[in-house]
Amino acid sequence: MSAKAKAPFEKIKTQVKRLEVEKLVKGLVKIPSHCEVPTQEKEVAEFLNEFLQDEGIDSKLRTVEKNRPNVIATIKGSGSGKRLLLSGHTDTVPAFQMDIDPFTPKVSNGRLYGRGSLDMKGGLGAMAMALVAIKRARLKLEGDLIFAAVIGEERKSEGTEDLVLRGPKADMGIIGEPTDMEIQPSHRGLEWLDVHFYGKAAHGGQADKGVNAISMAARFVNAVETDLLPRLKARKVKYTLPPTLNLGVITGGQQPSSVADHCVIKVDRRWVPEEKLQQVFTEIYDLFDKLKKEDPSFKADLKRDPSNMMTMAHVPNVVSTGHPVVKSLQQSVRTVTQRPGKITSFWGWTDAALLTQYAKTPTVVFGPGGAGAHARVEYVNVDDLTKCSQVYSLVALDVCGPGV
Ligand SMILES: [Zn+2]
Repeated sequence: MSAKAKAPFEKIKTQVKRLEVEKLVKGLVKIPSHCEVPTQEKEVAEFLNEFLQDEGIDSKLRTVEKNRPNVIATIKGSGSGKRLLLSGHTDTVPAFQMDIDPFTPKVSNGRLYGRGSLDMKGGLGAMAMALVAIKRARLKLEGDLIFAAVIGEERKSEGTEDLVLRGPKADMGIIGEPTDMEIQPSHRGLEWLDVHFYGKAAHGGQADKGVNAISMAARFVNAVETDLLPRLKARKVKYTLPPTLNLGVITGGQQPSSVADHCVIKVDRRWVPEEKLQQVFTEIYDLFDKLKKEDPSFKADLKRDPSNMMTMAHVPNVVSTGHPVVKSLQQSVRTVTQRPGKITSFWGWTDAALLTQYAKTPTVVFGPGGAGAHARVEYVNVDDLTKCSQVYSLVALDVCGPGV
């Protein structure tokens, strides 16, 4: 480690104790903030805002939708340096049927358990603590260090759309989603699609008088599996994992003795930078055309699922591996862990794509490790919380100014 890299690290690492990061993350997990809670993200946002204010950091709530605020905190730079955004989402998915107590966080064997511990209150707490470390160490920055805890990522990304439209503007950013401390400058785009099939109702005892929408759906599923999926799999990708299509939900028909006149399949399509969004749609329309040629009674339609998006398409994220934020993360990971920072691609979709594409703020994903995002047992590695927090601080000092 060079003396230059070592000096700020020495100043940072004594500022925040491991137990403090753990306590903050536990505090965040304890407050349910999913879409089935009437107050949604409000209470967790207030908790985080107060925590930052108590540390003397300039933090405020900014309403995105009624009772749904983002938290925006800033450590102001002297004005001439680059601005870094650290961001994460305050909402989680609901508890569903968890095998652990979702909102009573427990630590065992170096793992912190609870809904949202990994996705992504762990990363969020580590980011908040990075600001605290810099504030406590009284390190001066030239550019602004901005922290945004945003609402709604699990649904429409309302919080990040607001950030894109209203600022504050940054030159580069990091999203603290869980990456097992790998640096992930790219990921696929995400479309949720509803495929509708239209038949004609009739009595099941006279089924030949009707047209069965469920049978159409079955033919479509077969076409997806034998025709489209192999083509997606074979597609060459440079930055991300290969494109995918998942058949997620199927609903249709009324009762056993009726020919189903309507059926819907909900599709999750992960698309890559080498594809165009329009292509995602036309490939499905092409399947419709083929099926209609085989059977003229085939009738289907494709709709974008309105619950997945506000106004900004969930495009893929691509930031060059040579970008300063990636370089800085690599150096900081090495300083903190004594191991090289590994560059990989994120398997999920994140708000980073909206910031890179629409705010022109190249944003990458980097966060702690653990397991069980959206699953029955979710945990984050406690060790990684402190390490990530230190990495975020070091990147901030590197990007935003001399820091010493
Ligand atoms: Zn997440």
